[in-house]
Amino acid sequence: MAGIYIHIPFCRTRCIYCDFHSGVDMSLQEQYIDAVCAELDMRIGELKGEPIHTLYIGGGTPSQLSPAALTRLFNHLTQYIVWDKCREVTIECNPDDLRTDYIAHLRTLPINRISMGIQSFDDNDLRFLRRRHSAQRAFDAIAGCQSAGFDNISIDLIYGLPGQTLEAWQKNIELAISTHIQHISAYALIYEEGTALMKLKESGMVKECNEELSLDMYGLLIDRLEEAGYHQYEISNFALPHRQALHNSSYWDDTHYLGLGAAAHSYDGTTRRYNPANTTAYIQSITQGLCYYDEEQLSEYDRYNDMLLTRLRTRRGIDEKQLSLQFNTTLIEYMHRMALPHIANGNMERTDGHLRITRQGLFVSDSIISDLFAIE
Ligand code: SF4
Repeated sequence: MAGIYIHIPFCRTRCIYCDFHSGVDMSLQEQYIDAVCAELDMRIGELKGEPIHTLYIGGGTPSQLSPAALTRLFNHLTQYIVWDKCREVTIECNPDDLRTDYIAHLRTLPINRISMGIQSFDDNDLRFLRRRHSAQRAFDAIAGCQSAGFDNISIDLIYGLPGQTLEAWQKNIELAISTHIQHISAYALIYEEGTALMKLKESGMVKECNEELSLDMYGLLIDRLEEAGYHQYEISNFALPHRQALHNSSYWDDTHYLGLGAAAHSYDGTTRRYNPANTTAYIQSITQGLCYYDEEQLSEYDRYNDMLLTRLRTRRGIDEKQLSLQFNTTLIEYMHRMALPHIANGNMERTDGHLRITRQGLFVSDSIISDLFAIE
């Protein structure tokens, strides 16, 4: 089983916190879709005939593609994907694009999951983040997708905004629950280098949320969503039963995937390929029939560190039996040795053949994971 990721690097406007690769020049759309289709033809062999069981169209803002461009992309994908066997087909959408006609068009395609970048149900937060939708538009977009028959909807939320209170965050959580969506991803606001948000912070115009409050917000998120029936299956991801994101979970389960488009990454079990983040250069290179990536052969240490980084983020943790098939005993012993102090202080546990971070440890997960990293 394998997955395909397609990056759509177009956004109508840029949000202040974002460091994803995307631009606002929509005139490149048609050529870009041609290039993605050509790249798929050139690189599908990397998946060695494995059936495709997930497709994820992310960005950028894929819902900025015209209905005709989306249909053309799906018609091309049909050559390689048996839709009946493809369990999850996700498209990321901006709520502002999800008007009745656009949603109706999405229903004509094999898409069965919508991921919406909502971020907040508070108009002040949305204005601060330079999102182009309002809270009401977010509710309307969710309701529109639901009444069109989409029964697998995910939303993204951000917490720890400057000046945000615990009460304001709780209101956001309650509003998210009230929409009856199936999946919620929630992240603390990050000040990425080079973003407008970072410049605001450096110039003293915004003040970062303090760590204690951010951790309280995270704790509240876990408690409220679990009470409401959402299972926390990963540090930042919560789902109703049977609605865990399959594509993202496959990144944590060592499934192979092919990433198409500018800034997309691929993984075939031993090699990672990185398409550089340059849309124009991507189109030019693919148009000349040249594959467009940097390549990294993964050593055993790289694979071990990747495994820690992905599996320890999941609540299931590391399957120790599988581990013994994948890594030499020196690395496994090293991992157990480094985990001992964290087990002793209750931040990790070893039960049911799994090593995992406990609920208490989730609040310091980054430092636990980096402690267990191995250097060659
Ligand atoms: S819409 Fe998404 S990808 Fe585009 S700028 Fe905003 S956060 Fe970034």
